[in-house]
Amino acid sequence: MEHLSVSEGASAGLIDGKAIAETIRNEIKRAIDERRTMREMRGPGLAVVIVGARPDSQTYVRMKRKACEEVGITSFHVELSESATEEVVLDVVRGFNADDACHGILVQLPLPKHINEERVLGAISIEKDVDGFHPENIGKLAMKGHEPLFVPCTPKGCLELLKRSGVQLAGKNAVVVGRSNIVGMPAAMLLMKADCTVTVVHSKTKDPQRICREADIIVAACGSAEMVKSDWVKPGAVVIDVGTNGVDDPTKKAGYRLVGDVDFENVKKVASLITPVPGGVGPMTICMLLSNTFESWKRTLPAGAN
Ligand code: NAP
Repeated sequence: MEHLSVSEGASAGLIDGKAIAETIRNEIKRAIDERRTMREMRGPGLAVVIVGARPDSQTYVRMKRKACEEVGITSFHVELSESATEEVVLDVVRGFNADDACHGILVQLPLPKHINEERVLGAISIEKDVDGFHPENIGKLAMKGHEPLFVPCTPKGCLELLKRSGVQLAGKNAVVVGRSNIVGMPAAMLLMKADCTVTVVHSKTKDPQRICREADIIVAACGSAEMVKSDWVKPGAVVIDVGTNGVDDPTKKAGYRLVGDVDFENVKKVASLITPVPGGVGPMTICMLLSNTFESWKRTLPAGAN
């Protein structure tokens, strides 16, 4: 399907991340149930390690546990105090590395300042790195002819949204706004692997508007509320908005509302397809964590059962 033409007064089609994530969760649940019914074997397990009591991290961890339960993934939860030493966190990770019931290990970031994140993430067994942040997995993502065992969840979710919306990727100009290790950089690598011609825009880029206007596909992940305006977008382009920014809104009970990195109301008049915020990329991230845990479990099954 091509999405590169819009007529006057038209509005972009919505890429409904909530609905797509639900479809994928149902697919994963069915796939787990089928395999377990046939062989009566143990299902997938995901370990979630949280250090400290940041309310946002607690919320994410709760959401991840609930999502696991819904599809039949057992979640193992370890909550350590803010003052836990790096050695204690490393011991927990090593314990899960050796535990056959656990197929994925997720350490909720950010970690307290006294703990070296790189050392902790590097200690996760590459076979259980369901966040996809291990340098070896990132390295393989970047290398032609290599495939990582796991792809980071948010960028994987972006590609899944594009594919399931029928967007052709090969030969397209894709612009990724942002180059972070968790979103922008891996999203650019994935788009390149999918044969897009990729340009990465970052905070030092000159004239990002001109570069974005060349794009058939824009992935916005700069953490700056509504930065991508309608005159940054070529008519008919496909826009994936990763951003989640809280902006003051006294009309809301919470006193704020969530907006993306894209000026949704105006860009939807120009784009052919666009993700909303909330309800676009957000629901896909946890869904891809389930998908990575399921893939990891499948790799451990006896030949013929996977
Ligand atoms: P980040 O680590 O702060 O990285 C932001 C990137 O955007 C950096 O590479 C930065 O460039 C670039 N940037 C900042 N201002 C810019 C500007 N004015 N023009 C061009 N580039 C600019 O953020 P992140 O973790 O990648 O997250 C990005 C957004 O996605 C945030 O809104 C975050 O909340 C959201 N997010 C959502 C999900 C989800 O599940 N929906 C998951 C993760 C993140 P430099 O490298 O030059 O500094």
